[in-house]
This record gives sequence, C-alpha cells and structure tokens, in this order.
Amino acid sequence: MLLWLLPFGMSSAQNFDEYFADSTLRIDYTLAGSHSRQSVFLDKLNRFPGWAGRRNHLGELPLQGNGQLYVRTLNDRRIIYCHSFSSLFQEWIETEEAYKTERSFEHCMLIPFPKQPVEVEICLRNNKRETVCRLKHIIDPSDILIQRIGEEHVTPYKVMLEPDDPDHCIDIAFLAEGYTRRELKTFYRDVRTGIESLFQHEPFRSEKGRFRIVAVASTSLQSGVSVPRLSLWKHTAFSSHFSTFYSDRYLTTLHIKDVHDALAGIPYEHIIILANTGEYGGGGIYNSYNLTAAHHPKYRPVVVHEFGHSFAGLADEYYYDAHDANDQTYSLDVEPWEPNITTKHDPEKAVAIGRTEGGGYRAKGIWRYQKDCRMRTNEYPEFCPVCQQSILRIIRFYTE
Ligand SMILES: [Zn+2]
Repeated sequence: MLLWLLPFGMSSAQNFDEYFADSTLRIDYTLAGSHSRQSVFLDKLNRFPGWAGRRNHLGELPLQGNGQLYVRTLNDRRIIYCHSFSSLFQEWIETEEAYKTERSFEHCMLIPFPKQPVEVEICLRNNKRETVCRLKHIIDPSDILIQRIGEEHVTPYKVMLEPDDPDHCIDIAFLAEGYTRRELKTFYRDVRTGIESLFQHEPFRSEKGRFRIVAVASTSLQSGVSVPRLSLWKHTAFSSHFSTFYSDRYLTTLHIKDVHDALAGIPYEHIIILANTGEYGGGGIYNSYNLTAAHHPKYRPVVVHEFGHSFAGLADEYYYDAHDANDQTYSLDVEPWEPNITTKHDPEKAVAIGRTEGGGYRAKGIWRYQKDCRMRTNEYPEFCPVCQQSILRIIRFYTE
C-alpha cells in the first residue's frame, strides 16, 4: 500500500486570528541571476481585502517545492506561516541561455496580512535541494507604502462552483487570456469544460465539495495568444506566449504581476489561465499557475495534467529517449521532493512507488509507480494511485 506519505500534524485554528487579519499581503519579488548565481530582490508590497488561503497547518509546508517562504514573529522567531513554490526562473537557470547571461523574472507570494511586524524569509533551492539564495526582510503592517489594491475596479467574475463549507475550501480562479470582450461567452464555456474535466478525475471527483471556483473576465484587446514560431504576437491580458525556452508547446507568461493584479479583490489561491488558442500546449508551475491552450482537441487532459503540476507539485512521468541523458531538471543522486517520482535515494519512497523505470524526463535512474498516468500521457484517463494519494493529501492539507 502507498502509505509513505505521512499525514500532517494537528495545528490550532486559533493561531490564525492571533497573528493575522482577514486580508491578504501580496509580496512582489524579482528573482534574478544566471546559472551560476541567483538572487531574490523585494519589489513591492500590496494589500487586498479577504484571505482565501488556509487557516490551519500554518507552520507546515504542503511540499518542499523549489522555494520556500517563512513568516516569523520578531520576538520569539516562531514560524507563523510558510508556503512553498516553484518558478519559471528556476527552470530557466538550467537552460543554455542562463550560462551566457543574467535575467530577471517576476514572482508573487500571498500571505495572510500580519497584525504585528514580521520577518519574511524567501529561499530558493537548486536541483540538489540545497539552498542557493535567500532574502530576509521585515514587514511592518502599518507601513503606509503597502499599496491598497482590490478595493475598487475589481475584475468582473462569476462563481462557477460553490463549496459545501465556505470556511474550509480551496479557491481556484480561472483567468481569461486572449479572449476579447465579445468572446467572454466562449471563455465561460471553456471554464465549464475545464471544471468538468478536472472533476472527472479522482480524487477531485470525490472531493468536489471542497472547491470554490470562479471565472474571471480578464479580457484582452486582441483575440488569441502569441505564437513566436509563426511570428504571431498579440496584445493580451498576460502577454503569454508559446515556445518558452524555445520549446514550441511550452506556453507561459512572464507577467506574473499582471496575473495577480487581475485577481486583486477576488478570493483565489490557485490559478488556471485559459488561453484562447487552438495551438497545442500549456505549462504548470507548482503554486504559481497553470496555463493551458483551451481550443486544442487535447484541452481536457492537458488542463488536468497542468493542474497536477500547479496544485499538487506532481512531476512529469514521461521522458524522451533522444535527449534525456542531458536533462538537468532532476539530479540523479538526490531524491526529488515531487511525490510521484523517485531516484531511490529515499528507501521508503523507493519501495512504495519505484516500480517502473522512466520518468522526470529520464529513461534511466528515475522511477514512477505504474506504466501510465495523467502525468504521463494525454490518453490515459486517470491519475495513477500515487498521484491520486498525493493530490488527496494536498486537498486535506488546505481544507482540514
Ligand atoms: Zn502518476
């Protein structure tokens, strides 16, 4: 049985009100550097009404991720909130370009708004899970330069799914990318298709009552999204494009602040951006966003696959024989934090899930559980048992 994933410890709900107000602090960072050197810089602080994130397990990480953020009290240095994430910047530093130049990427983190001054620490880790850089800064909640957003001019949105218990639910926001005002009907239809696809998969199907889903009408001036391969560039809400890092089907946006600005004042924790295009592709980054092409015939499996990355931190279980020996995403001498692949450096995890070789872009040296899974192909209809258990654990983490 797949019991290597230990349940989370109990933590008290009282802590939340002791330390936090019912508002969100959005911290904007710049992640910058090259393959050999990375840094994090503070950009801007924003406050908006309401906190849609968890109120329990505040001092525990859902998964390790490629980066972590810790919020500590100033007097006894107690961790009162933490969260984990991955970023496009950390994928970029393994590309050829990162050996030749330095670049910067936007990154936003949401934390509950502290009642007292706190210390915030953000750390980035490399593919050996070593911390490569960190930034510590103090936030004083009375700072007049914390910009108030989301109090007016909130992007229009519709609630598409109501949870059973609004106090213990996961908030997902679908955003429109490359849909003009006249195409909003199409957007809402695409959101309904996305929701239907997600809840066709276990464990989402059984846990449907734990989700609230909104569709946000973030319209674009032009229809469609940018396709560099075809020299096609569009003026869209989030300036997304295919061919990220020269991989034709990799669809991402570098404009993370635009994404979060469109969501200011709307309850959200997890983000699914639908791109109005028939091209094939998508991208999903753990606790950052899922961006999926909505008019390709493979839209349904792809939006669920990318949500596996962005929501549950699942790794790709596929690999390419041709170039995989050069793929640096995972270090073969370190156990990856992703719950659905193993390099067999964690004996317990190796026994529990390491049954089939190949995964994480490598044919050799990385193992997965079974032959097929939603994290491997678009054709297989379900997540494998390991992915299902990992997703269920994350759902419980946010809602119990
Ligand atoms: Zn799987």
